[in-house]
Amino acid sequence: MSLDIRADQSLKPFNTFGIEVKAAFFVSVHSDAELEQALAWAATQNLRVLVIGGGSNLLLTADLTDVLVVRMASRGVRLLEEVGDRVLLEAEAGEPWHPFVLQTLELGLAGLENLSLIPGTVGAAPMQNIGAYGVEIKDVFAGLTALDRDTLQVRNFSVAECAFGYRDSLFKRQPGRWVILRVRFTLSHSAALHLDYGPVRQRLAEQGIDEPTPRDVSAAICSIRREKLPDPAELGNAGSFFKNPVVTAPVLDAIRGEHPDVVAYPQADGGFKLAAGWLIERAGWKGYRDGDAGVHRLQSLVLVNYGGASGKQLHDLAQRIQDDIQARFGVALEMEPNLY
Ligand code: FAD
Ligand code: NAP
Repeated sequence: MSLDIRADQSLKPFNTFGIEVKAAFFVSVHSDAELEQALAWAATQNLRVLVIGGGSNLLLTADLTDVLVVRMASRGVRLLEEVGDRVLLEAEAGEPWHPFVLQTLELGLAGLENLSLIPGTVGAAPMQNIGAYGVEIKDVFAGLTALDRDTLQVRNFSVAECAFGYRDSLFKRQPGRWVILRVRFTLSHSAALHLDYGPVRQRLAEQGIDEPTPRDVSAAICSIRREKLPDPAELGNAGSFFKNPVVTAPVLDAIRGEHPDVVAYPQADGGFKLAAGWLIERAGWKGYRDGDAGVHRLQSLVLVNYGGASGKQLHDLAQRIQDDIQARFGVALEMEPNLY
């Protein structure tokens, strides 16, 4: 087995922002053995390592001159166990996420339908505990296997050990340490559907569907997402660029004093989640464009690359938005994509 390690590789096809930066070296790995071989080679060359999946949550701000970029390309989905209604499935890290979701729906399984049409790979999904329309992967997560780059030991993680939070996990908090190899999910033939978030129920009703199946929910969510979100194949982006901030009651009251229509969702810890997109839109950034870096015209949470924007230009725009939201509303916005 010999690895196809490429020198001086453009990363433009490997990040959904479509940013042109170069990696000193680049390799796709298809198995644990190839991954270990790539890591060993990087060590002999004194290179840092950046592991990527689909590149849909990255902001690349400069050439990676002393880095081996390792793209996870392992494939495979296995049924591990079926007990009554519940099915334990395991998928390799390099499996593309949305086709995996469709595969589970074709098997008649419920659990992942609300997470339809999220770009990227299975292996990256636990990194930020991907979430959409009221469901996060932690809700159906059964465990994962990861390689510890510090010790080169392979280890299994339970849901508690992953320390999942809102767009967060142990793996995100320890960047570069863990390579996620495969992920397990508990799905079900008859799980309750989550329809009470955003326009999902309304979209199903418009389609005349009173008793939706998981596949109906997936199709409805795909149609909503296609209307609202830019397709990275047509307009470079990394999805939501900022996390929704959680603020205290006094901060919310202060904002409500000036903006009675502020959107706020009460949280279990007593805080209030604000819609970052609402704050950015209210501050007048929706549709803003500076050169090829911009804020999407329909969805102000999404920064876009009209073609030739650099990672630095997008990062500068993001910082200007953060400063403006801090000054206007007293709220700190945290960036969601991983910065390199
Ligand atoms: P990458 O961008 O390649 O990597 C992301 C991070 O994970 C990097 O730090 C990388 O080093 C690390 N990483 C990748 N693979 C591994 C691995 N196997 N082991 C260890 N570390 C790894 N996110 C949501 O949560 N909800 C959404 O609804 C959503 N919608 C989106 C819509 C659009 C149009 C776009 C462009 C993005 C959206 N995202 C969403 C963000 C993104 O798709 C997800 O975070 C996705 O899980 C990233 O997967 P990826 O394979 O592209 O990861
Ligand atoms: P939306 O439906 O217009 O809602 C705007 C914001 O309000 C969302 O950010 C959402 O928070 C929040 N919200 C809506 N209904 C809620 C409820 N019932 N309870 C609590 N919070 C509620 O959002 P959208 O931009 O079209 O996105 C739809 C879903 O896809 C959201 O869940 C969003 O997170 C997800 N998404 C994520 C990304 C990404 O890159 N991370 C990109 C696109 C879409 P939450 O974001 O916390 O859900």
